[in-house]
Amino acid sequence: MDFNIPGDDSELRTALRDVNLPTLLMVMAQFSGDDRWLTDRFRPDPIQTPEGSIFPDDTGNYNSDIATEIREEAFQLIRTLRDEGGTMPPTPDVKQMRHLMEFSTAEPLEDEFCAMLLEETNFVNRDNTWKPELEKLTGGAAGENFSVIVVGAGMSGICTGIKLSEAGVDYTILEKNAAVGGTWYENSYPDCGVDTPNHFYSYSFERNANWSGYFSKRDELHGYFERCTDQFGIRDHIQLNSEVQKMQFDTGSQTWHVTVKRQDGSVDALTANAVISAVGQLNRPVIPDFDGLETFEGESFHSARWQHDVSLEGKRVAVIGTGCSAVQLVPKTADTASHLTVFQRSPHWISPNKDYYRPVEAGLKWALNHIPLYAEFHRARMIFGFMDRNWPAVPSDPAWDHKDRAMSEVNDMLREALAGYISEQLGDQQELMKKCLPEFPVFGKRLIIDNNWYQHMTREDVNLVDEPIVRFHPRGIETADGTIHEFDVVVFATGFNSNRFLWPMDVVGKSNVSLGERWGEYPQAYKGILVPDYPNLFCIYGPNTNIVHGGSIIYNTECQVHYIMQCLVLMLKQRGKLLEIPQEATDEYNEEVQNLSKNLAWGHPGVESWYKNSDGKVVNNSPFSNLEYWSRTHDAEPNTYRKD
Ligand code: NAP
Repeated sequence: MDFNIPGDDSELRTALRDVNLPTLLMVMAQFSGDDRWLTDRFRPDPIQTPEGSIFPDDTGNYNSDIATEIREEAFQLIRTLRDEGGTMPPTPDVKQMRHLMEFSTAEPLEDEFCAMLLEETNFVNRDNTWKPELEKLTGGAAGENFSVIVVGAGMSGICTGIKLSEAGVDYTILEKNAAVGGTWYENSYPDCGVDTPNHFYSYSFERNANWSGYFSKRDELHGYFERCTDQFGIRDHIQLNSEVQKMQFDTGSQTWHVTVKRQDGSVDALTANAVISAVGQLNRPVIPDFDGLETFEGESFHSARWQHDVSLEGKRVAVIGTGCSAVQLVPKTADTASHLTVFQRSPHWISPNKDYYRPVEAGLKWALNHIPLYAEFHRARMIFGFMDRNWPAVPSDPAWDHKDRAMSEVNDMLREALAGYISEQLGDQQELMKKCLPEFPVFGKRLIIDNNWYQHMTREDVNLVDEPIVRFHPRGIETADGTIHEFDVVVFATGFNSNRFLWPMDVVGKSNVSLGERWGEYPQAYKGILVPDYPNLFCIYGPNTNIVHGGSIIYNTECQVHYIMQCLVLMLKQRGKLLEIPQEATDEYNEEVQNLSKNLAWGHPGVESWYKNSDGKVVNNSPFSNLEYWSRTHDAEPNTYRKD
């Protein structure tokens, strides 16, 4: 076959300078079918985690002779493919993937992990388990008048739309905003970007070989989702400026009646057999109800509603909050403002990442675009490095004696390393250490990637205040020590209304009870997806599906969409087109979730976070490793759902 590899020899040689060698060896071994590339001579060093970081160095650490030899042999192979064509090697199976990955990571792996990798690299098309059947059913009598409503056109809604389109399902996506993209549309604060490596933070079926950085910024991410919307032909199914206010299950027709408010204020009623909620967990900004807030005479806004028409140039600015959003937006804000004050309720753990600002090298982009199999193996190794590698540091070790500060010895080692990093960053301002050192265990909250936070806290024109906020005044903020801090602009980086899933939609089920009322402070869903008494309703990124220790939320979405598509097949096969999870199965599942969560870092009693409800129960996070969640959502369970 012709591989369409462009360029001349010098372009190829230049590209190979930027390419990851253990990945290249996987390509060479797969193409040649020759295990000579997988022998000790070429064995990479195990993936290292540099001190003070949780992010791996996966270069293999070859000496220059071996590196030159690998590049030269790769050059010969790719030149031959370019000039003479060749045969595409067989798609690796689990055994071969494991063989290649164990060599290139220098670590033992499980078959299950490699089976997941085959799907995440699209070597195996997971849609084949449901798509042919769904296509057949929607094209036949069962598909007549069968339709689905998807709520939200963010990352999850777009993914769902793509899969529904491909199976020929009649569907509509209702989106409250004026554009698609969800989080990546709404958040536009300075330096807004992703904290999962982009080559993993992208759909498995639509890798992007042209990310400009390893951690891209908001505009590029939003552009990616806009492009997917067009490329997969789902734009015509999306109704923008259309906010779902209410949905009610009609037991007579076994359908959902959905009330939608349009931009002009008019209200429409739509009907569908199933509703898939793709509204996210972090979509409704929260501004705390500070005393006197309404009296403040300056400008104020939430980080997710950035007011680009408010200039910060030369202004005295306050940022309230020290979570991911604050850490990203503070440096640029400090550079623009005349003075910045950060109000901290509690410090977070922040880790360095050597690739955070690194542009993707031209050679790597070339390899991802043009070297056959390179992009697949590159993603597989990315997943290996960033998905569950930190999981061993998350559970509590019963034999560990210092539970107040850490979950286990390995968790404590991370604490030591990160504390050392903070101290190093603070330089000669060690007095800031007591403000900056978190008390809760590492992974109690999502580890934030450092955007030069500590360096900015040491600036003369930046003030880190950890006195509690007491009230607002017309000119500023009063703290518990009686100080009144004056500001022109206040930015609330205070997070989202995350415990009220699906809120503010009023979702009314079979028993005529509103889901918000039913859940109260304690939302629960089977696998985070299905809710008893709310048949044919599917949640994406529902209760207990958030990930803290690592991984990509797109991965979780794809697991859930895969599961939901199988549920649609089962629905269509049933005469009543009904699918409901029994209460008992949900209770049993939730008991397991809660029992596990208690002993994980984010369930630690010292952690106060948006993951917990007012009773201290973890309602947002998944208690499973990402691999475990993949396995649990891999196959729908016809015997578990209600039959009547
Ligand atoms: P967040 O993590 O919930 O942080 C909110 C901050 O506001 C916290 O520091 C919190 O203090 C503080 N706060 C809340 N209420 C307060 C009050 N009444 N008084 C004083 N301080 C108060 O929100 P976020 O930073 O927007 O991030 C939310 C989530 O979005 C993240 O966990 C992450 O999952 C995601 N995110 C991801 C990225 C990315 O790079 N992909 C970027 C941004 C956000 P405490 O710490 O004491 O609670």
